Amino acid sequence: MLVYIHVPFCTTRCAYCAFHSTPLGRNVRPSASPLLRDYVDTLLLELAHWGDRFGGQTVQTVFFGGGTPSLLPSRIIGIVLERLAKYFTLAPKAEITLEANPESLRDKKNAVGYLSAGVNRLSIGIQSMDEGMLRVLGRPHRAKDSLHAVFAAREAGFSNIGVDVMWGLPGQGVRQWLQTLKDITRLNPNHISTYGLTLEAGTSLELDCVEGRLSLPPERDQSIMFMEGAAFLEEHGYLHYEVSNFARMGFQCRHNMGYWEGSDYLGIGPSATSTLHGRRWTNPAAPKAWDAKTRQGRLDGDAEILTPTTRVLELLMLRLRTTRGLRVKAYQKLTGRDLLRDHHKLMQALHENGLIRIRHGYLRLTRNGMLVSNAILADLFERVSSTLELPQPQAMEIN
Ligand code: SF4
Repeated sequence: MLVYIHVPFCTTRCAYCAFHSTPLGRNVRPSASPLLRDYVDTLLLELAHWGDRFGGQTVQTVFFGGGTPSLLPSRIIGIVLERLAKYFTLAPKAEITLEANPESLRDKKNAVGYLSAGVNRLSIGIQSMDEGMLRVLGRPHRAKDSLHAVFAAREAGFSNIGVDVMWGLPGQGVRQWLQTLKDITRLNPNHISTYGLTLEAGTSLELDCVEGRLSLPPERDQSIMFMEGAAFLEEHGYLHYEVSNFARMGFQCRHNMGYWEGSDYLGIGPSATSTLHGRRWTNPAAPKAWDAKTRQGRLDGDAEILTPTTRVLELLMLRLRTTRGLRVKAYQKLTGRDLLRDHHKLMQALHENGLIRIRHGYLRLTRNGMLVSNAILADLFERVSSTLELPQPQAMEIN
């Protein structure tokens, strides 16, 4: 089982962000915030609740995501991990990731604290090494903070460091993007996630673009950023293992791999989603509603029972995001259908256009295919769902 812990606080709100998080402000000491104290109380209650229900299950990975989990002092992270280990069986080599913003790691002391609390992987939200881009994104850090953060993490003893960077930003050119990647590879992280900017409705960045104050790079440039960026990272020894993710051999993110392979996961914290034993539910995002439901033990009261069709479609979508792809026989085993024969014409067209490859029994997207993966997957999703007639699910009894 995978465990995701959502930390819904940030220092300020980034211009592009639509995640569930509350800005605490630059001048607030997070550990002194009553909001954070209430959050930790409910979080520990929720953990105890799931410990009663699913205790003893083996946890392979833990991921503190957000928000900005590095606003939580290492002492709190330590307590959460101790409780987890008390209620569940933490696998001896469990991957324990903490998302951190560069400014939280200015001081090596924080990185040392997280390491001794049990975190063994840091994912640092660098986003850009260009000061102008950081301002456009409304990030609370400067490029030099990112340098300090990676050095501090390494000096503290972290041997598994990932960084996130973004492309397709307003005003960004291809050359500037490749320069950011050059700067990033000089830091020699073990893992690099490269996310193309999506303009989320209601964000200030979207408004700036809609009202013409900013504009995204032309589509052609965005395609070049993706293609040349991926080629650059591969040349520098990073394995392209998922549409947006690159890693040194052996440093793929095990937590995310678990999602893409359809593993069960328990999400803890406001707005976190869980999928366990064929059921899925999402915690309320509002702190009061989350706290009330946790105290009543009703977090999964309205859980959705996943139909076999939903599970197959999700697996198809998730596996095709990875460079390994989908084992065609696995699809056949689950559905009794032949994916390639059922959708022969589509497969042929995608193949002729260089968007998919079928080798050694695996169907996968090429890099050109990844560039338009959303369109391909949406089309496939629709076609596949119309051909599948799987039996209705049996509600699973869980205590
Ligand atoms: S730090 Fe992350 S979660 Fe927080 S506002 Fe910025 S993008 Fe959103």
